[in-house]
Amino acid sequence: MPKTMRVRRDAGDAADKVIPLRTDGMRALGDQWTEVARRERLRILREATGVTLAQLSEPLVDAAQLRGQIENFVGVMRVPVGVAGPLTVCGKMASGLFYVPLATTEGTLVLAVTRGAEAISAAGGAAVAVAESSVTRAPLFVFATQSDASNARRWIAQRVARVCEVAEATTRHGRLRSIEPIQYGRRLVLEFAYWTGDAAGQNMVTFATDAACRWLRQRAPFNQAEFFTIESNCSHDKKMAALNASRRRGRRVEAEVTIPRSVVRAVLKAEPEAMVRVAREGLYACVVSGAVGAQAQFANVLTALLLATGQDVATVAECGTGLTILELDGDEDLYASVTIPNLIVGSVGGGSRLPCQREGLELLGCAGCNGSQKLAEIVGAAVLAGELALVASLATNTFAQAHAAYGRPT
Ligand code: NAP
Repeated sequence: MPKTMRVRRDAGDAADKVIPLRTDGMRALGDQWTEVARRERLRILREATGVTLAQLSEPLVDAAQLRGQIENFVGVMRVPVGVAGPLTVCGKMASGLFYVPLATTEGTLVLAVTRGAEAISAAGGAAVAVAESSVTRAPLFVFATQSDASNARRWIAQRVARVCEVAEATTRHGRLRSIEPIQYGRRLVLEFAYWTGDAAGQNMVTFATDAACRWLRQRAPFNQAEFFTIESNCSHDKKMAALNASRRRGRRVEAEVTIPRSVVRAVLKAEPEAMVRVAREGLYACVVSGAVGAQAQFANVLTALLLATGQDVATVAECGTGLTILELDGDEDLYASVTIPNLIVGSVGGGSRLPCQREGLELLGCAGCNGSQKLAEIVGAAVLAGELALVASLATNTFAQAHAAYGRPT
């Protein structure tokens, strides 16, 4: 039986048209990463929708390379990439000048980050510190009574080393650092936290935790659980929670710079006091609106940079919130810092395998093993550059003019 689906052909249509979609044909191609399958999908899609997809259907990458990255592959959405910088980073792994690739369609963003980078570089660079990765998966077990849940909590506390062996048998690089029990009534969440090497690690921690839970569920008292799910929603994978602002999921990144007044004036065209005032007013507004964290535009820089380096962009839900601090240093200079509590990036695995994305990593000298901390440090400095630029434009009341000049086609 052909399925039907509502397709709105264009915004001008008064009513949706109901057209038959041969989803059965699509489904039959589901497990094939070949050019033949891609073309057949396009044929079905064109026939069903009437849209030619002339641009989107340009493959740009061999379908066979995309196994593990996407299903039902039809084409590539091209996002323009600009480079911001040079940006001076003073980190443990990233030290020197970097040109930062940003994939975006928001006119003004690349120029803004470039301006922030110029101010940072003129001040000697951003000092960046990155805590080692801690990526979590948090399965839930529901028992008949709270006493049973407590019993399971005590049982596993005696067997952490064995559970660790089972989990780590699934990976050459991942290391299980801790299992934190969170009990509410008869429900027991076990928060598994891993060091994930140079990988972002979401698959790695899922596979390892899955193995550990299979082992647990074959043994009393865990085999008595009347409900189990591998993710309770306590890991906040791709979700922001107030708790995550004070601890970390992924890498915690701190970047800071002190910029002399003369540089603030010459590059950012602002006075330090005016920028500090904008940041303080923004903080009050965050309090009033109940925001988690207080910052200007983390998500803008993060999304563009993660996209350009093959990261899972949806993690911006976690890392797009943090804290920006702007203060006067002495009476003259501007001190600025950013804290990104939950940055999840990898220099191996995931989308970093794809050719274009790998070039983005290569541009930063971060591709492959030993690149993830360096990448995290550059991300921290780039986010700081974005914060400085946006606050400066608000402080000088040039925010609208900048977008009018660069944010629309002329
Ligand atoms: P992955 O590509 O699944 O795994 C990383 C691979 O790189 C592993 O095979 C690992 O080997 C290997 N590797 C080689 N050198 C390494 C090194 N120096 N450090 C660490 N690993 C090294 O990627 P992932 O980072 O685990 O997961 C990221 C992907 O998961 C993204 O595509 C993301 O979109 C997706 N994702 C999955 C979930 C989920 O719950 N499953 C959730 C959100 C996102 P070993 O395993 O042997 O160490």
